[in-house]
Amino acid sequence: MILIDGKKIAAELREELRQEVVELKAKYNKIPGLTVILIGDMAPSQIYVRMKEKAANEVGLKSEVIRYPEAVEEKTVLDKIEELNKDESISGILVQLPLPKHIDKQKVIETILPGKDVDGFHPMNVGNLSSGYESSVPCTPLGCYLMIKKVEPNLSGKKAVMIGRSNLNGKPMAQLLLKENCTVTITHSKTKDLKAECLEADIIVAAVGIPELVKADWVKKDAIIIDVGINKTDNGIVGDVAFEEVSKVARALTPVPGGVGPMTIACLLKNTIESFKRSQK
Ligand code: NAP
Repeated sequence: MILIDGKKIAAELREELRQEVVELKAKYNKIPGLTVILIGDMAPSQIYVRMKEKAANEVGLKSEVIRYPEAVEEKTVLDKIEELNKDESISGILVQLPLPKHIDKQKVIETILPGKDVDGFHPMNVGNLSSGYESSVPCTPLGCYLMIKKVEPNLSGKKAVMIGRSNLNGKPMAQLLLKENCTVTITHSKTKDLKAECLEADIIVAAVGIPELVKADWVKKDAIIIDVGINKTDNGIVGDVAFEEVSKVARALTPVPGGVGPMTIACLLKNTIESFKRSQK
């Protein structure tokens, strides 16, 4: 079984991106800038933002975190985004989710210029992705896609099953695999026989949030399994896939932690650099 080492693949990607930033600086005499807006003091968001900032600095991006208290007015945040939209030194803007209830998430997402939307959540980017045009792609599915391609470069004709249909994971993941000529099934909480769907799959991407939902007897021999889930349990953090038993059946599998997580952050940096390059065209 191939253990898909997301930590290692992400480190290699960051190194490639670091070199690319050096080349871009030599060519344009400027470097891509990433600004993250963090509202409130929720512990997981603080940790994610710190990891993103560290990774951005490591590859040589210009990086900035703007922090607001939980009670900040929506208008203050929207005005700041407008200001960053006009700032030519900023290639990527990310507003860390979730947001406090009084702030309209969709309004925030739609205020970010599509060209600077490094999370790939703006409806323009969602539409471009599903139309097969150039777009910013949400970081987690992009990371999953790059890991799948490492194991199997030719995905044409493969049967892929997404478990979960969120805008963040299942839907964009399905679009990426469809573009690779996979036959894609998107499953969700109302799917009648999830096990039967999974048993058909050459590739399973599980993004559900249910600890160890996917068992060995759900998995076809030699399938590629990507585990997006992060679930806190009494036994620590586990994914949506029962790792031990599934590792005996699968051809390749991502661990949790150390699989999808590190790739998500590396892909944010990749998206920022891509935004910069598009803006120079
Ligand atoms: P989400 O928005 O809650 O979506 C979960 C999806 O799972 C929904 O589409 C839901 O179906 C489906 N679902 C729920 N129960 C199901 C069941 N019994 N059978 C089949 N489908 C079922 O979650 P998300 O934001 O996509 O995140 C999913 C997981 O990934 C979470 O554990 C999250 O922490 C993790 N995550 C990890 C990363 C990373 O970087 N590693 C990034 C993002 C998220 P309905 O649509 O019918 O409700």
